[in-house]
Amino acid sequence: MDHPIAIGVDLGGTLVRVGAFDVDGHLLGQHDASIASIGPEDGLHLIEDRIRLILKSVNSPTLLGIGIGATGPVESVYGIINNPYTLAGWKNVPIVERLNKTFNVPVRLENDADAAALGEYWQGAGKGAMRLYAVTVGTGVGTAFIVDGKIYRGVDGSHPEGGHQLIDPNGPKCYCGHRGCWESLISGPAISSLGRSAPNNSHLIELALYDPNRIDARFIAEAARAGDATAIAIMKKAATDFSLGIINIISLFVPDVLVLSGGVMKSADLFLPTLEEMLRTPNPMVPFDRVHIMPANLGYYAGLYGSAYTILSKYL
Ligand SMILES: [Zn+2]
Repeated sequence: MDHPIAIGVDLGGTLVRVGAFDVDGHLLGQHDASIASIGPEDGLHLIEDRIRLILKSVNSPTLLGIGIGATGPVESVYGIINNPYTLAGWKNVPIVERLNKTFNVPVRLENDADAAALGEYWQGAGKGAMRLYAVTVGTGVGTAFIVDGKIYRGVDGSHPEGGHQLIDPNGPKCYCGHRGCWESLISGPAISSLGRSAPNNSHLIELALYDPNRIDARFIAEAARAGDATAIAIMKKAATDFSLGIINIISLFVPDVLVLSGGVMKSADLFLPTLEEMLRTPNPMVPFDRVHIMPANLGYYAGLYGSAYTILSKYL
């Protein structure tokens, strides 16, 4: 085979990114397109067009396959995207069957958190780690566990949801039905809502010119850095809840590498000191000091790398 390639497709709620990779992990070319508010039929056409464009531009004679990392829920085993929540109208969409018919090559589908973790395992911060746990904190909290280069799966191929581990039974109600899930305490919207419900006479509300809509997680982080007491208290609580979740994960899985990404790393100065302090509590049962906690380094490309890796891993 001469210069075989795989295609990676990173399908998010607003953007689809398509890239071609060789077996050494070089990104040979990519195309981005907006997919916001595009239904499944037009969306699939768009993805097929972008794949054809990439294939033309890299001009490789051998396409090994197409890997997709999509915003979940997805059913990897059946190759179906079932996510009308962030992809308008994408209910029970058999994307694997469709792309397999169009391009006549193997097609794999994974949840985007799993794909991003695979990317970090293949070419990123956790390169080659035998046990890699990945946590992304943003609008939600995504987690993935990679063991010996393979995605850890639950029963029927289900994706474990570390973001919905229960941290505080008296915490806010989560959309999953429980109270005080990790995501409902530390996600960007969770931190924003703590700021918006600050007392009207607080300096934070004054800083926002009495317009609660100005208060988002970034605003609170900046106010905390500038010394605002309300903002400091909010970030301290979020950092403590974040650390409780991380300590649970380490206690359960003891990964070699724990990769962090998203807003939590943009505010690493506000989150990580609390985590480091809590991890210093001596624990003879769990070797916390053996777990390397590090920032992800592929950024917004992790999912694209990992999607292609679902195909290329068989040829390495
Ligand atoms: Zn939940």
